Amino acid sequence: MSFLRIRNAGGESTAANFTPHIVLAALGIAAIIVAVLIWSDREVDRIALERDRAIGSLVLEQSVERIAHAQEAATVWDAAVLALRQRPLDFRWIDRNIGTWFYGYAGFDEVYILSPSDEPLYAMREGKRAVPESYIAVEDVAAPMVARLRRTREVSRLAAGEGTMLSPGQEDFTVLRGRPAIISVKPVMPDTDAVVEEEGHEAVHISIVYLDDDFFARIGSQYGLANVRYQIAPSLNPRESSIPLRTHGGRTIGYLVWEPFAPGSQVTEIVGPTLVLVLLLSTAAIYVLASRLAKRNSDLEESRLLAHHQATHDGLTGLGNRAMFEGRFDEALSHARRHGTMLALLYIDLDRFKQVNDTLGHPAGDALIRQVARRLVAEVRRYDVVARLGGDEFAILIREPEDRAVIDRICLRIVGQLEQPFNVSGSQAYIGASIGVAITPDDGLDRTELTRRADIALYQAKAEGRSRYVLFSSGMDEAVRTRETTERELRQALADCDAQLRLYYQPVFSARTGEMTGVEALLRWQHPENGLITPEAFIPAAEETGLIEMLGAWVLRRAALDAGAWPDLRVAVNVSPIQVRNRKFADTVRAILAETGLAPERLEIEITETALMAASSEVAASLKDLRALGIACALDDFGTGYSSLSHIRDIAVDRIKIDRSFVQAVHTASGAALVEAIVGLASAKGVHLTAEGVEDSAQYAFLSQVGCDEVQGYLLARPMPADQVTQMLAEKQYILPPQHDGNHPAAAI
Ligand code: C2E
Ligand code: CA
Ligand code: CA
Repeated sequence: MSFLRIRNAGGESTAANFTPHIVLAALGIAAIIVAVLIWSDREVDRIALERDRAIGSLVLEQSVERIAHAQEAATVWDAAVLALRQRPLDFRWIDRNIGTWFYGYAGFDEVYILSPSDEPLYAMREGKRAVPESYIAVEDVAAPMVARLRRTREVSRLAAGEGTMLSPGQEDFTVLRGRPAIISVKPVMPDTDAVVEEEGHEAVHISIVYLDDDFFARIGSQYGLANVRYQIAPSLNPRESSIPLRTHGGRTIGYLVWEPFAPGSQVTEIVGPTLVLVLLLSTAAIYVLASRLAKRNSDLEESRLLAHHQATHDGLTGLGNRAMFEGRFDEALSHARRHGTMLALLYIDLDRFKQVNDTLGHPAGDALIRQVARRLVAEVRRYDVVARLGGDEFAILIREPEDRAVIDRICLRIVGQLEQPFNVSGSQAYIGASIGVAITPDDGLDRTELTRRADIALYQAKAEGRSRYVLFSSGMDEAVRTRETTERELRQALADCDAQLRLYYQPVFSARTGEMTGVEALLRWQHPENGLITPEAFIPAAEETGLIEMLGAWVLRRAALDAGAWPDLRVAVNVSPIQVRNRKFADTVRAILAETGLAPERLEIEITETALMAASSEVAASLKDLRALGIACALDDFGTGYSSLSHIRDIAVDRIKIDRSFVQAVHTASGAALVEAIVGLASAKGVHLTAEGVEDSAQYAFLSQVGCDEVQGYLLARPMPADQVTQMLAEKQYILPPQHDGNHPAAAI
């Protein structure tokens, strides 16, 4: 059933979506931090690598320079120049000073010495003197360098002494015997002016150092290069660095490869896990905070929904309330209008709910209402709307019924269902319901009009005797309009009572003496347009609108005032049950008596049998109070209501007024017998008896004969204005006792 749909799905998702957003944002920030870290580490690594590569180049350069520099320890030396001029050569001296000595001193692997005419004079390999001719193995590489040295001798001399070098030289990377090597060529030249040597014609000293493991181990430790080595091709390992070894001729003879120092990567390795942990923890913290926040938000949302639910639903039954119903009604109406479909509005009013509440108590009343709600919901379809408008009022929307017959069936079922007894507080309660129905488009197109018409139909259903349903018809509208007009005009009349309201009096006579004993006050409305209106035409309207209380008070006061002119007459005033039900009624009467000075014994209150039989405790209490004041109470229209004759015994009244219909039936045997029985019962109980509506003398004769106390009717006197009563009394127009010969006494007016 639609009224059970409580939650607003949109509202809930706002709260639920909140946490993921915040967590995503936190993760995003974490990702950015990690990315910046990685980037900065890469950048650090890149800078470190550049530096490393510069170091690598420097290492190579310095390795070459170191060899050349070491070489100069022996080649720039007067003794060496002289030793190499000497013939035969002193090989032992050469070994010790410029040959094998270098093997141990500077790690030179090979040394060759050429004469000024480029003849090999000396050779050393791996610390041992070799035959000079072994020069041939390196000649291909060495000879061009020697030639170049001799050619550039002049230029180089200028440079010599300006740097760290003492002498010119030629150095290069090369491949010798299939191995990478550094080769350095230096002239053997004097270091003082004591020895003179022609430039360009010196002996030449050639040193060769192979780039072997020893070499790399040395430069590795010297420059802090990890795993440094020679490779024929650059390293494919991304974590390794390679720089080419290039000869002066531009030939790449291999690569220097090492593992560069990558501080960034190390930072990443060291800091990374900690950072990730920190980020995870802070994301978790943010998640917790965010979900708390989201929870609070969703709590708020929930309480908002709850408030909304409470604002739109009836707490007792869980059905929609009036506010909700009106919203759904508007929706359904616009749907019906768009699609040209029917929509039925059912107004349901429980018939005897008040009694259940009064006799079984409020918890029982609540339980009953809940059961009614359940039965109503069970009788309609899922998409119909059931709501509790308040108290014992319900409303149903039947959406898109195929035809009026469907609506009839549903109403009939509901009436039938609510006629079934309800089990409350261990006892069975019978209530029943009245239903008013209005259908769009026939009975109107907007909510206000349909509501009004369903209400009219409901009123009609109640007026027709309850536990039934009534479909609105245009005739009812007419009746309601008349009632509404009456009400409006009655208000005006009341605002100006003495101008429009009149009180007539119908004399009442003793059936034995024919003497006028009292009058009954009868209300008339002198309508400005419609003339004199009898009470039956407006009293019901006054009762419905509550105007009856003001009206009744006016009648009482008027009657009491007029009665001042007739000190010997009893004044009877008709009162509506609505007046009597008011607990303050006796007080009102007492106040009016005090105000007007009418003795309570002269006043008689007439109340209809129907009103008295349906007497609530309030009516009984009011009557008791009135009688305690000394005011008499008469049971009006006796015989028209529910009470059987035997009930007379139980009724606490001073007078019974036999209804006109009985009087009219006295010419029949059964009618006569009935009146005789009533007279018997009344006298047995000591209750006075008045016969109303006496229209002919036969009736009058019969009534006086059987012992009826008083008579009232057109035969004797019609209702008349107060001054006519005064006149009647003054002219002593007493009615003669009935004569049994059929001669009718003259009737007044
Ligand atoms: P009721 O109390 O039964 O009043 C008697 C009605 O019968 C009066 O009608 C009266 O004119 C009419 N009547 C009297 N004699 C005869 C007769 O011989 N033949 C016929 N056919 N009718 C006769 P009325 O004045 O139209 O009053 C109608 C009803 O209105 C009254 O019935 C009473 O119940 C009510 N009523 C009148 N005045 C008041 C009032 O001030 N307050 C209240 N609450 N109801 C009033
Ligand atoms: Ca009456
Ligand atoms: Ca009457």
